[in-house]
Order: sequence, then structure tokens, then C-alpha cells
Amino acid sequence: MKVEEILDSIYKIMEDEDFHEGVKRAVQNSTAAVARILSSDQMIQELAGELREKKEAVLSDISHYLELTMKGIEKVNGRAYLAKTPEDARQIIADIVGTRKKIVVCSKSMVIEELEIEKHLRGLNHEVWGTDLGQFLVELSGDKPMHGIVPALHLTKEAAANLLAHRVGFDLQGGETIEEIVQQVRAFLREKFSRAEVGISGCNCIAADSGAVFLVENEGNIRLTTALPPIHIAVVGVEKIMPTMVDSFKTVIVQSAFAGLYPPTYVSLIAGPSSTADIEYYRVYGANGPQELHVIFVDNGRLEAIEHPILKDQLLCIRCGRCQMECPVWGAAANIWGGPVYGGPMGINWTAITLGENYAAPFSLFCLGCGRCDVVCPLEIPLSEILHYLKGKIE
Ligand code: SF4
Repeated sequence: MKVEEILDSIYKIMEDEDFHEGVKRAVQNSTAAVARILSSDQMIQELAGELREKKEAVLSDISHYLELTMKGIEKVNGRAYLAKTPEDARQIIADIVGTRKKIVVCSKSMVIEELEIEKHLRGLNHEVWGTDLGQFLVELSGDKPMHGIVPALHLTKEAAANLLAHRVGFDLQGGETIEEIVQQVRAFLREKFSRAEVGISGCNCIAADSGAVFLVENEGNIRLTTALPPIHIAVVGVEKIMPTMVDSFKTVIVQSAFAGLYPPTYVSLIAGPSSTADIEYYRVYGANGPQELHVIFVDNGRLEAIEHPILKDQLLCIRCGRCQMECPVWGAAANIWGGPVYGGPMGINWTAITLGENYAAPFSLFCLGCGRCDVVCPLEIPLSEILHYLKGKIE
């Protein structure tokens, strides 16, 4: 996009009062929640301090850690793949899902968005449902996710009810409470979960010592997506590897706390397809949960960025979204500012990694350089420095 087009889109969204009200309420609530969590639990800040070192160790020896993690997955009867490009990832997933029309349920994941997996599978005639409430609403509205953890934070409850009534025929007149709206979505999606043949999730982090996938959430949709269908596919950016399961637990604690959603309702650790050893202590895979686990590691610019003197720091990101909530420009435009998938300070940097510096550069021009994002980031990523570097790439 050209600078003028970005400016137009920011001005346009700033005139949308409902959008503004939705973002404002979300920022206020999230900021207050994070402050409350951090002030009441000193341990979280200490854990955050440990993560940077662990992540740097992995990134500085990524080939070794990637190999170790992939071997760990195979050891517990999972299948591991490395996709260099989005096309590679889409092809691997399409091959696993197969050609017969299937119901596919997906949990919310920015890497799934990045690779356009849902769109691709719909194009292959599969019935695909996003199962996170925010993701479900964003798909119905046709908007891009406005935040990695709260994708529909720009929608008021009236806007949500209106979408659900008109796009999927829910019995909602507009005066319902949020609880009543959520109950109707629950009934609708439960039916999809029970019939789905494939569940696709992202991954908050993955442990190199075991190949265990970690997923953190509150809604329960990830549990159902990863446990009910016979096939589970996890899509993982290569930067999500942590050395051990203990490090991974620390990561999900820090991520949920800095997202203002601590303690998280659920943390799932998935090491292989479901299994049982209840007869003769002989372990058999494919019990009550999925019979197949496929873990797809995604490069899409990440491995090159590891070697980059400036962009490499963004790979430390645990996608808590805290920097976005603190950014005054993001507060005005949310993810409208940042690129086709990601948005805000971290998002522009991720756009540079996944789509190239030239693509991301015009967005960086709107960064005010206030540095508030740097101060709140639990991994101490110098976001504004990376943005400043990108400004120098504007042609
Ligand atoms: S850059 Fe830092 S604050 Fe922003 S999402 Fe990543 S870890 Fe969180």
C-alpha cells in the first residue's frame, strides 16, 4: 500500500464511532487487567525476565532445536513437517485433509491467518468454521482480526448481534445481553465440533525436549478443536520453539498475564495423538481423542530474519498483544494499521518478516516513536527501533 492509501484508511476508521468505542473499551479493560495481574503477582515479571534468554538460545541454534523438536513429535507418533512458504503449508494441509468434503474446525491463530489456510480449504470445497467467538465474528464481518487475542474487539455487542442474526440466522433482535449472545454461539458451534473430521490449531509454544504443543485459552474451543476430531493439525511458527516443557509453561503464563487474561482457563499440552496403555501396559495410539497429530512448522521469512541484525529481535515475540494496547496510533486505528494480517507496532514488524521490508515500510511511517511499546513488552523487544529502521526503507 502507498502512504496516502494507509493515511486514508486510518482517517476513515477514525470516523467510525462504533469502532472507536469498541477499541477504547478493550484498551481500558485490558490495561487495567494487566496492571492488576502484574501488581498482585511478582513471579510473572521474574518469569518474563527468564524467557528472553531461553528464546535467544533457541534462535541462535535454530536448526538444532528444530530437528530436536521434530524428532520429539515423531517419537510420540506425531508427524512433523517444515513448510518453507505459505504455499507449501497450504499444500501439506490440503493433502492431510484430503479431497472428500469435510467439516474442518479451526482455533484462532495468527499464523493460520498469515497462511490463509481457512480460505484455501474453503476454496477446496471443505466446510470450515473458526471457533473462537471473536474469530467467528470477524469471519462473518469480513474484517481482518483487530488483535491477536481479541480479534473482534472493535465490535460492540449490538454489532455482534446484528452480524449473527443476519449472517447465520441467529434469533437475536439486538437487545440481548452478551451472555445470551454467547449461549447461541455455543449451541451453534458445538454442533460443528461434534461433526468435524479435522481440527486445526495454532500453537503458543512447543517444547524441544518432547515435541509437546502448548495452547492457552479461555473459551474451551481449542480443547474441542484439538480433542474431538480424529485428525489434529497444529501450525507452528519456527520461532515458537522453547527448550523444555518447563520453559513452555512459563511462556504461556507470561503470555496470558500480559494479555490481561490470567489465570487462563485452560492450558493444553499435546504430545502425540491420543493413546492408552490400559491393556497389558502396551501403549496404543488413537484412543478417545485424535488418531493423528500433524505438526507443521512454518518458515515464511522467519529463518532469514534470524540472521537479520534488526528484525531478529521481533522473533522473540510471544504475541501477548500488550504493545498494541499501549500504542496511541493502534488505539486510533487498531489492526487497520499494519498490513494484511498483523497490525500495530509488533504487527508491522511481523509484516516485514513475512511479507518483506518494502511491504511493511510505509506502515512504519505512522509510528510516533514514543517508545511506549518498548517499555511494556515483556520480552523487552526494541519495537520502536525496528520501526525506525523500517522507516529508512520507504522508497
Ligand atoms: S512485541 Fe512484546 S508486547 Fe508486543 S506482542 Fe510481542 S511480546 Fe507482546
